[in-house]
Amino acid sequence: MPKMCPVCNGFTKVNKHCNECNSELIDYGRILDYLDDYSAYEEIEVEKESDTVEYDQRNHLCAHYLTCIECSYSVVYLIQEQ
Ligand SMILES: [Zn+2]
Ligand SMILES: [Zn+2]
Repeated sequence: MPKMCPVCNGFTKVNKHCNECNSELIDYGRILDYLDDYSAYEEIEVEKESDTVEYDQRNHLCAHYLTCIECSYSVVYLIQEQ
């Protein structure tokens, strides 16, 4: 069985709160999905993320992009694939 991300597959949801204002963070999905879309890629400015994502794939981690709708805080959250 290949490993897969439980969040991408709908088995679980990200339940993280904003470091700044403690609002619930919205999961915008895998960073890899953003890398396919040039305009979105520019918008979130993941300058060094391509290296990170390659590293994550080797380690069976799925990088999700979380953002706070209250204060625009954003963070990359790594999910262990199972
Ligand atoms: Zn995922
Ligand atoms: Zn916030």
